[in-house]
Parts: sequence; structure tokens; C-alpha cells
Amino acid sequence: MFSLDQIPDLPLDLWVGGKPVPAADGGRFDVLDPATGGSIAAVANGTVEDAIAAIDAADAAAEAWAATAPRERAEVLRRAFELMQARSAELAALISLENGKALSDAKGEVAYAAEFFRWYAEEAVRAEGSVMTAPSGANRILVVRQPVGIAVLVTPWNFPAAMATRKIGPALAAGCTVVLKPASDTPLTALLMAKILEDAGVPAGVVNVVPSRSSGTVVSVMLHDPRVRKLSFTGSTEVGRLLLREAADQVVNCSMELGGNAPFLVLEDADLDAAVEGAMVAKMRNAGEACTAANRFYVHESVAEEFSRRLAERMAALRVGPGIAEDTQVGPLVNVEAVDKVAELVATAVADGARVVTGGTRPEREGFYFDPTVLLDVPTGSGILAEEIFGPVAPIVTFTDEAEAVRMANATEFGLVSYVYTRDLARGLRVSEALDSGMVGLNRGIVSDPAAPFGGTKQSGIGREGGHEGMLDYTESKYIATSW
Ligand code: NAP
Repeated sequence: MFSLDQIPDLPLDLWVGGKPVPAADGGRFDVLDPATGGSIAAVANGTVEDAIAAIDAADAAAEAWAATAPRERAEVLRRAFELMQARSAELAALISLENGKALSDAKGEVAYAAEFFRWYAEEAVRAEGSVMTAPSGANRILVVRQPVGIAVLVTPWNFPAAMATRKIGPALAAGCTVVLKPASDTPLTALLMAKILEDAGVPAGVVNVVPSRSSGTVVSVMLHDPRVRKLSFTGSTEVGRLLLREAADQVVNCSMELGGNAPFLVLEDADLDAAVEGAMVAKMRNAGEACTAANRFYVHESVAEEFSRRLAERMAALRVGPGIAEDTQVGPLVNVEAVDKVAELVATAVADGARVVTGGTRPEREGFYFDPTVLLDVPTGSGILAEEIFGPVAPIVTFTDEAEAVRMANATEFGLVSYVYTRDLARGLRVSEALDSGMVGLNRGIVSDPAAPFGGTKQSGIGREGGHEGMLDYTESKYIATSW
């Protein structure tokens, strides 16, 4: 069985100025194993003083890092990619241990997370600007890209490695220094990432990690420090709104990756085998704890019974257990509050008239589990369709025509991702354009790719991570009006 002793270089203190440092007041907090509820480590609990020290370190390193040759920054990121690959087994076990996700999901996350370092190693050397003749002919318009400055990165617990690398990769490529505040449920992966980046050659102070149970005050003090020029946040829309207000005081540049409520449309001409396969991925990756998780299934009435029967068969066959066990397919949810929320949403949907096709209950075992669940005939007003479930539950609503399906899919304040299944590609593209979300999976249950712009419309966020745009978000354009 895996234990933390197998990672002797895992820092349990804050990571500031290139080394582990205890919290200013010596405080620590427990990290729990969601499979048992027991403590696996006590991590330094960053204070306001520590946050300022981390900004001091990022500030001291900023000028030299921004002046580093892009090729050099690229090579550091490339080494970080290689080190992550070399340490993928340890990283996956660590993610599984602190987050609860099945080891297979954790391995997938490590591969995905490492790709952000590879992609931004390749992008670091492509910081192009532009030059054009002014319309008047009097001068040239020269545009260069410069690093935006010190970036505060705040990440959630559901992808402890990938959400960190999706921010650190482009920030470092652009020449920014960073302070990362990881989620308190999963600080260990972020701390190991700091060590890996150091081993890859990242200079002291370029990457700092400050876990803290006082996230509100610690992030607030950083956003009010005039040296901080960028906030990149991934988490709930509720906390995102709060941080946008905080960031307004110093007019900090914000990138926000917020909550989702993804609709999954199965049109009457869909390939049902592909749709069920895609539904399993879109719903069950990370046991449903993904912002991209299919949250509402809209299935044409002519195929709804068949689709739900097949989906329920697949869901019921999943092996539920501790994430760290090799044969587990669905691990526990991250904490007891997460299970309570899922149980309540399911109970309310059933009271509203939904039929349980499979699951619907918590298994009787220690840890934070919920059974894979399929609900059919969910009434359109039910709360489960309006909120992020963040668990292994698939509510199905039937529809009769395409326009109605698109209208229901768009009837939400969220707009992160949508999925649509149809055999008719022209129809699929038409529906994709009509869906109000930043991303669409067309006959695909997964959209995440470091080479693609990830992000949402409406209250799912501002800005894009990944792709070429991801690095631009850590730069400012500087326009130089030039006469020559
Ligand atoms: P969360 O509660 O919003 O927390 C996210 C991060 O913000 C954590 O590091 C958290 O620290 C910190 N935080 C909480 N309250 C804060 C405050 N008042 N001031 C400053 N920081 C604060 O979200 P979560 O539960 O960790 O993650 C799940 C959410 O993330 C879901 O809504 C999901 O859709 C979203 N998500 C979005 C994307 C995307 O790319 N759009 C990707 C993944 C997840 P503590 O842990 O210490 O509270």
C-alpha cells in the first residue's frame, strides 16, 4: 500500500523563495484521506505574513526571470515535463491519496498536467508581436508582448496537479513569477510540484506555494499588494465573484475559470454506442467531480429509454472503492459535505418525480462515497438541473425537438462546456454554434487538451487557459508608435 514515506522529498512546509519554510506562527493543518476520513499529513498553514513573504520572494525574482531568454524558460519547462513523467507513479498515488480519485483517473490527470509544461515549453519561444504601417502612413505601429507581472494563482481540489500546471506553465513561459494558493483539501500535490520545478531548474522565488486554511484573508492580502498584477483563479463561481470584487480595488488583471453545468444532448439520430461511451467519460471522469462533468442529459424521447438503460448498466457495473486500490473505477468524493450535497440533490429530484434507474444511495462503508446513479424523467424545474452536482449522478430529461433541447441546454447562468451527439455532422455543427458555452464536445465526451483554449462564457469565467491564448493571458501588449 502506498504511503507518504515513499516520497521523501515531499515538502510539508510552505514553499517560499526556493525552499520549504514553516508558517510564521508555526501552525499546521491536517490533510485527510477521503477513503477513510483519517489524517495523512499535517501541512504548514500559511498566514498573511507568509503570503507577503511569498510576494516578496516573487518580486525579488521577477526582473531576472522576465529577462531570461525564452529558450531558457522553455528548457526549464521541458525538464519539468520530463520529471513529471519520470515521477508519474508517485504523483498519481499522491493525488489519489489526498483527493480520493481512482488511480486510473489520477494517472490520466498526471499525463494531462505534464502536457501543460510540454506545450508551454513549446509556446515560450513563440511570444510574437506585430508591426504595421499606421493608416495615415505617418508612422509604424509596433506591438510587443511583455510579462504581466507577479501572478497569484488559486486552484481547486478536483485536479490538484493539472489546475496548477495549467497556470504555472503559461505564467513561467511568459516570464512571470507566481504565488500559488492550492486548495486546502489537496495541498500535497502542489508542494511536490514546487519541488519538481526546482529540480527542473526554476530559480528560487519564481514559483512559491502557500497552502492556507485562511484562504480568504491570505488571497485578499495578496490582491491588495500593488506588486501583484494578475489573478488566475479556478474554482466555484461563488468564490470567483468574490475575488473579482477584491481584485477591483487594485484593478488586478483577472482570468477566471469557474463553475459549469454542462448539458449533454443526445439527438434522435445519435450513434447510441458512442453516446453511452461519451456519457460515461463526460459524467464519470473523476467520479463526476469535474467542472466539465455532464450535469444534465437531454435525450430525445425516441431513444431515452434505451439510452438510460444502457447507461445504467454501465454505471451499475463500475467498481466503487478506495481510489488508491488498483481495481477501483470510482473513488470516494472529496469530503463529507460533497456526499451530503449529492444525496440531497438526488432526494429532491426523486421527490420532484424522477425515477431512479440505478444507484441513488450511499454505500454502507467508511469514507465519502455515493453510488453511481442514473435518474430518468427528471422534471425540468428540479434543482439537480440547476446546480453543479459534482458527483456520480446522471439526471436525464427527455425532449421532443432540437430547438427545445438547445433552449433547455442554454437556460443556465453557466456556459463552460456542452456535449452533443448526432450522426449528422452539419446538424452537429449547427447545434454546436447555437449552444452558449465556451467549449463543445461534438460526438466526444472529453474536450480538455493543453493545445486548445479552455474556458467558459457567462458566469463560467473570463479568459482562456491552454492553447496559444493561455500564454497571452500572462502578458500585456505594449504598443510603441514608431517613426523611422
Ligand atoms: P472553491 O471553493 O471555489 O475553491 C477554489 C479555491 O479558492 C481553493 O483554493 C479555495 O481554498 C479558495 N477559496 C475559497 N474561498 C476563498 C475566498 N473567500 N477567498 C479566496 N480564496 C478562496 O472551489 P472548489 O470547491 O475547490 O472547486 C470546485 C469548483 O471549481 C467547482 O465549481 C468547479 O466547477 C470549479 N472548477 C472549474 C474549473 C474550470 O476550469 N472552469 C476547473 C476545475 C474546477 P480552500 O480550499 O482553502 O477553501
